[in-house]
Order: sequence, then structure tokens, then C-alpha cells
Amino acid sequence: MTIYRATIVDTPGDPFAGDPAEALAVDQDGALLVRDGVIRARGSFAALRAEHPGEQVTQLSGGMLVPGFVDAHVHFPQIRVIGGLGLPLLDWLERCALPEESRLADQGYARAVAGEFLDGLISAGTTSALVFGSHFPAAMDELFAAAGQRGLNITSGLVLSDRILRPDLLNSPQTALVDSAGLIRRWHERGRLRYAVTPRFSLSASDEMLDVCAQLLAKGVWFTSHINENVAEIAAVAGLFPSARNYLDTYRRHGLVTERSVFAHNVHPGDGELAVLAEHGASVSHCPTSNCALGSGLFPLREHIEYGVHVALGSDVGAGSGLFLPKEALQAYFIQQLLGPGGLALTPVHLLYLATRAGALALGLDGQVGDFGVGKDFDAVWLRPAPRSTLAVNLRHACDATDALARVFSLATPADVAGVWIRGELAADHALPD
Ligand SMILES: [Zn+2]
Repeated sequence: MTIYRATIVDTPGDPFAGDPAEALAVDQDGALLVRDGVIRARGSFAALRAEHPGEQVTQLSGGMLVPGFVDAHVHFPQIRVIGGLGLPLLDWLERCALPEESRLADQGYARAVAGEFLDGLISAGTTSALVFGSHFPAAMDELFAAAGQRGLNITSGLVLSDRILRPDLLNSPQTALVDSAGLIRRWHERGRLRYAVTPRFSLSASDEMLDVCAQLLAKGVWFTSHINENVAEIAAVAGLFPSARNYLDTYRRHGLVTERSVFAHNVHPGDGELAVLAEHGASVSHCPTSNCALGSGLFPLREHIEYGVHVALGSDVGAGSGLFLPKEALQAYFIQQLLGPGGLALTPVHLLYLATRAGALALGLDGQVGDFGVGKDFDAVWLRPAPRSTLAVNLRHACDATDALARVFSLATPADVAGVWIRGELAADHALPD
């Protein structure tokens, strides 16, 4: 067993449900007792030390220990094409994202990309993610194998499309069914890996393909796709599905809006869509830097919360500008500020919740990860800035834990990630003591 001594900060509560301060838990000189990768006890260091005098202690002095981040929407084949600025969604897909996604037809290329992507997640403190996959089954085998080796908590699946995209990215409903079923057999619930049925969006998936998605979802896996990201995309979907009530309806008619469904974006929800999402217990992944980079729009967070739609946070790399979830949380805060009275003013507690527990809830992983409750996996990020950095200066002048969190979300970068633990295993140790 190991006792980790640190300033421990997490959000076991829901800051959207009441007083945000009550959702926060802080142990200033705290400790977590970890055995076999699982948290067995939590409390003050003095108390845990007295109860377990013989156990090894790992001192994490300075900064704070927070739960591993949970990214609810990120594309593994796009790790090499971040930064394609200046284009709206459909042009960006055609010119930046999809040519790169085609290269993953080469399994060796896919293996290299999967390694870069997963190591990038770990360096950014992300230990769980809902990963938008590749259009190629062999590339998915590479991703799952590499994620399993690293112990990451990854939910992902083969991307399905049978129209509109460049021809080399298309699959027929028949091959989609066979290839996806094979991947589910090989990878779903193998260790921390799970499968998600992943039509790219209904723009590129016919009713027949969405029907195949429903057959696959019935195997007890997860579902993810895109929705209501960009006004031109929404208009094109409406043209392709003239009998659908709205964009969400293109999925709902096939039984794809469920408690196991996570829809990315929803920047422009139409009439009735939020009520249907809430009624079915589906989640939305908000992707702030992507929405800003592509000029997609300002996310109506208040409306989602008022309807009771669960919202998590996604980096949406490569349209998003990096894998570091605290940056997404800060951008979410900026967006709500820009919405003025229509926005939902976010506190630092909301930002930590969005980067951690909100994602765990969206993915049905809240029993395992997202906070430091006893019985949960020890997935953790030690944020400790270099001593002379502006963040270090600011942390020294923070008046309490909430203020310290505000400084972290304003200033932290992946360079401040001093250590990352995945189920108790040290996965990145940039500044650990000997
Ligand atoms: Zn996306």
C-alpha cells in the first residue's frame, strides 16, 4: 500500500445542482491510501499516518492533486492536424481532417498515430476518454492495443459513414456490421477498454447505416456521434432527412438516443431537442476551443442545464486546440461570459467538475473514476508548477482552495503536470521527487 500525501482537491458533488462550494472537497494536508490501484481510505495525512504507520509515503509537496481528467470527445486520427485555423466545419473536414484520416488505412501509420495520441493524453493528465476512432478496423485494433498497454480508460469505436465523405473513408452497412462486431468481440470490456458505436454524423450515415448502429448498440456497448455543430451542417442534414423533426430525430428514430449515448457539440439545439435528450438520459459533450476555432457558435449551457441535459467536456482535437482539459474548461468559462445574461457564470468548482466528474458521469464511469472517493481507481494528476512560474507566484497568493483552482484554470499548461497515475501506476513523472 502507498499513502499519497498532497493537497487533495476534487468535486464529489454537482456544482450545477446547488451551491457550487458544496460540490468541492479539499484536504489541505490530505492523504489517499492506495492498494492495487484502488483508493482504500481518504483523510488528513495525520490521521491516515496514525492508522497505517508502516506504509510507504509518497510526498507530493506543492501544487494540488486532482482526479485524472476525462475527455468526452476527442479524435485519435487527428493528433497530427491540430491548428487548421480559419475554416468552418465542413471546409475544415475536407481540407484538414479527412485527408489525414485517410492515411490511417496504413496500419503502420495508424500505430504511430495511436502512440502519439495516447502519450499526448497522458502528458495532458487525461486518464479516461471517449475517443472518436478511425474509419479503418486495423487502425482501431492499434488504438485499443496501445490503450490497453498503457492502462488508459478508453471507450472508442470504428467510425461509420456510407455517403458524402471521400470514397476511401466509406464503408457499406454490411461491412460496418461485420467489422464492428469483430472489434466488439475483441475489445469491449477487456480491462478498461470499451466499445462505442460511432457513426461520424447522420450527414454521412444513411438510415440503413443508422439501423446497423442500432443493431450494434443492442450488444450493450456505447454510442457517440456529432450533432448541431454548425448551421450549414444542420441545413444539409435537414435536406437529407426530410421526414425527421430535427437533427436529433435522425438518431432517435433508430433508438440511438439513450443513457449510453454521448453527442458532441449541440451548439444549436432546435425546438424540442433538449427535452428529448433529457428524457432519454443522453449526454452532450461541449467542445469549447473547437467551437471557437471553427466559429461554430457559443454553446447554450444554461439551456442544457435547465432542461436537465448532462454536459461533459471534450477537447475535440484536432479542431480543438490541444488535449489539455483545463484549457477547455477555461474556454467554456469565456464562452459563458461572452453570452452575457444568457450565459451561465461558471465558478472554478464548475471547471474542475467539468474536466473530471462530469465526463465520468457521461461515460457511466462515475463508480470508478472522476473523483477520489474510497473504492475508486487512483487516477490522478499532480499539478505543480515550476517554482518561478507565474502560476507558482499566483498559487502562493491564493486565499483558499477555490481561489487556487481559479489560478490553475487560468494559467496551467501541460508543463505544470508533474505526475500522472493510472490505476495506481505512475504513467508520467515530469517532476517527481526521488
Ligand atoms: Zn468531433
